[in-house]
Amino acid sequence: MGQLSKREVSIRYTQQHITMFSCPFCQNEMQLTDTGTMSCTNKHSFDMAKQGYMNFMTKPVASMYSKELFEARQEVITSGLYDPLQQTIVSFLSSNQVILDTGCGEGSHLARICAQLPNAVGVGIDIAKEGILAAAKFYSEKIWCVGDLANSPFQSESFSTILNILSPANYEEFKRLLKPNGKVIKVVPQEGYLKELRVQAFADSDKENYSNAQTVERFKESFNKVDVQRITYTVPLNTKLVAKLLQMTPMGWHIKNIETVELPQITIDVDILVGEV
Ligand SMILES: [Zn+2]
Repeated sequence: MGQLSKREVSIRYTQQHITMFSCPFCQNEMQLTDTGTMSCTNKHSFDMAKQGYMNFMTKPVASMYSKELFEARQEVITSGLYDPLQQTIVSFLSSNQVILDTGCGEGSHLARICAQLPNAVGVGIDIAKEGILAAAKFYSEKIWCVGDLANSPFQSESFSTILNILSPANYEEFKRLLKPNGKVIKVVPQEGYLKELRVQAFADSDKENYSNAQTVERFKESFNKVDVQRITYTVPLNTKLVAKLLQMTPMGWHIKNIETVELPQITIDVDILVGEV
């Protein structure tokens, strides 16, 4: 027997979880053939891409982010910079989770979180096709979807955990997608997040100051049993990763002379918001 292609592996894995999908046009149930066509009873259909991801966009959206950005992000995240953050998220979860990462980008957070949880099913969605392409390239045994939560490709109550890490949220949709007693875990920057970089990007500007108070307040109004945990740490940054970090953060794009930037250390300072529906 020949080895299965990446596409065939993704088709089989997605078939095992087909009941979580819903047609983004008509919300009907979906089926997925062995040849990789997912379709609803109204014959709206979507094909598994050869790289092993599904594209559920109902209209084309120009991608704001490049392949290089997601590859830079992958290098920075796999360097371990966010490991304490990922470990804290894992500490909120038990085994057998069905996890949806909303705004997953190239999928590194989701992959590293799932790797620490027995029997986790990981599903990542992002509006940026370049991110999902990278995710499918880097990480197998996951379901990767290009899609918009405003036109969701998922059935109600399909997920036990929704992750939303440093990314825009859609709380109404999160509530619809969560199983009863499911958790939403949102990560938002605190004032010290990447402060060494912020100082260089916005020197002498009021953009140096940042508050997440409104976001935290809105989360508390939207979910029950809310727990807020702040994680702060400063770690040395490998010189090779400086350019990658500048590339992956919009703040870094404000810096003109990237070669002159010195970042011997970097601070991660975030609030982890955990809530239930
Ligand atoms: Zn349909």
